[in-house]
Amino acid sequence: MSGATIIDGKAFAAGLRARIAEAVPAFSSATGRVPGLAVVLVGDDAASAVYVASKGKATVAAGMASFEHRLPADTKQEELIALVRQLNADESVDGILVQLPLPKHLDEQAVVDAISPEKDVDGLTPISTGRLALGLPGLVPCTPLGSLMLLKDHIGDLSGKDAIVIGRSILVGKPMAQLLLAENCTVTIAHSRTRDLKARVQQADIVVAAVGRAEMVKGDWLKPGAVVIDVGINRLDPAEGETKGRLVGDVDYASALELASAITPVPGGVGPMTIACLLRNTLVAAHRRAGLADPE
Ligand code: NDP
Repeated sequence: MSGATIIDGKAFAAGLRARIAEAVPAFSSATGRVPGLAVVLVGDDAASAVYVASKGKATVAAGMASFEHRLPADTKQEELIALVRQLNADESVDGILVQLPLPKHLDEQAVVDAISPEKDVDGLTPISTGRLALGLPGLVPCTPLGSLMLLKDHIGDLSGKDAIVIGRSILVGKPMAQLLLAENCTVTIAHSRTRDLKARVQQADIVVAAVGRAEMVKGDWLKPGAVVIDVGINRLDPAEGETKGRLVGDVDYASALELASAITPVPGGVGPMTIACLLRNTLVAAHRRAGLADPE
């Protein structure tokens, strides 16, 4: 039997969503409107369509306005940028999210760059990433923000902890490392060229795995007592008799339970935090745009 605590991201996210829903009426009485999130989906990628639908549902459930824009797969770059500019100018829209990946003929960076930083609830524009690096207030990508909330809730003060972030994407790894640095952790960023990853992971009090490789991080890589945040979402091939394969993280959960002091499960860990933090970013963006103090 392991003594590891299972960090319940689903329950934490439900609490966060409830607090956001409670904050919406106060915003509405101060401004006469509800916060609004616009989500843009280009093409017919099935997984993206599911994400967009669940974002819309969660937005409405929190009492906010959801604006969905579905464009055909052959949408031209200028048309997409024109829509982003229209949303930038729309007073009822506080957050803009362009669902990635975009069809290959579109320039993702140029589209993201067109989003007004004050409405950049995905935290991906150069202004948002720059503000994070500078330690200035801005909008932070949702998955690392949610991961940090879980860590702080579980550990409290992170100051002085050795942390390793495996993965260096703009969406997860890099902002995660910045957030941990801002909490005064000593941060190692690992990636596909890192040598002897196991030895580096063994030094870490906090391990954040954001790789996209099923069960790559093994239990015996961990320092005893490490806190593990598993960002990965990987679907295994279906076992015999199954129609769909199981979802697993980037960490080998069963063996990690033996040495970790706490770990996020997949599903039910970081995943639910991502949408909750999207709502949180939308609420924060709405307050800042209205000249109000950030909600608690
Ligand atoms: P990317 O593919 O953009 O980045 C993966 C990173 O992992 C890269 O930096 C890559 O290194 C690194 N990497 C690849 N192989 C290895 C290896 N063998 N050893 C060490 N590092 C390696 O993925 P994302 O950051 O977008 O996502 C990571 C995972 O998180 C995925 O499983 C994704 O599904 C999941 N995810 C989950 C979310 C959630 O809500 N829970 C939200 C977003 C993502 P290099 O840079 O050198 O190529």
